[in-house]
Amino acid sequence: MADSCTNLGLIGWPLEHSLSPYIHQAALKELGMCGKYCLFAIEPNHLRQRAIQDLLKHVANGTLKGLNVTLPYKQTILPMLATLTPAAARIGAVNTIYMEEELLKGDNTDAAGFRNDLMQLPVAEHAPTLVLGAGGAARAVVFSLLQAGHPVILAARKPEKAQSLADSFINIAQTTIKVLPLEPQALAQVSDEIGLLVNATPLGMSPHIETCVWPERLPLPAHAAVYDLVYNPLDTLLVQRARQAGLPACSGLGMLVEQAALAFERWTGTTAPRTVMQQAAQRACEPQTTKLSQRTN
Ligand code: NAP
Repeated sequence: MADSCTNLGLIGWPLEHSLSPYIHQAALKELGMCGKYCLFAIEPNHLRQRAIQDLLKHVANGTLKGLNVTLPYKQTILPMLATLTPAAARIGAVNTIYMEEELLKGDNTDAAGFRNDLMQLPVAEHAPTLVLGAGGAARAVVFSLLQAGHPVILAARKPEKAQSLADSFINIAQTTIKVLPLEPQALAQVSDEIGLLVNATPLGMSPHIETCVWPERLPLPAHAAVYDLVYNPLDTLLVQRARQAGLPACSGLGMLVEQAALAFERWTGTTAPRTVMQQAAQRACEPQTTKLSQRTN
């Protein structure tokens, strides 16, 4: 039987460091809605399919209003859903599940979350963009960039993986996606032509906060804004280096909040309280940020 409370949750593994409960609980509280956001950590063993299907039944019968999905299930959950939004179908990954017209529907709010948050940086229309990494987040980012008309260069440590990502988007782009190995010489060759650099690898993420995806001895692109999808710590080493070089730069916290806000709106049909959600995410991140500044000062 449907629950009048807005009960939500996140499927993934591991989930200990997720900020999503802080963001969504803050939104529920701000709007005076009853309900909670639970973490459903599902170990990727032979019982995972059953565990996920049980949770989907709760969405279908209304005891859960919706679910988020994160690694490692963003792609494997697709066949368990009845329908997908065009973005989720094109990206091939789902991060938000809800009921629509009595069907279990999967959406991908990472792409729109990135697109909306990118507006905080001064990026020229159709600026050539270098994306580093070729995993799930890179897929959402590349989809979003292509839709906005940015020529994309994709660099990954396994160029064959980047090529397969590029091939899967062949019909969206006016131009083909250029693929490079994630190596200093290759990056140096395109550095001057790009207007936006996006890190879609986990390099720089806590606890490995001293790592940086951009090679240490290579100057950052002279004319690029820098968007780091990593948000924990808030100011990654890449963001710090970019700011020191006088480049506009931000971490992925805004994207995290925006994808959450869009998911919250799918589930509740209510405008998400973005400022409160952003403040909650920032508070939850602060301990890591303090540690970084202690180490780097
Ligand atoms: P993923 O699917 O595991 O992909 C990670 C990518 O980074 C892969 O291409 C991987 O290469 C590459 N990579 C990993 N370690 C590397 C290293 N040491 N050197 C070079 N490349 C490396 O992960 P994801 O879901 O795309 O997430 C990537 C990052 O984005 C994570 O830090 C995640 O927290 C962040 N993210 C942020 C948001 C947000 O809202 N801000 C949303 C989604 C993700 P291989 O394929 O060779 O392993």
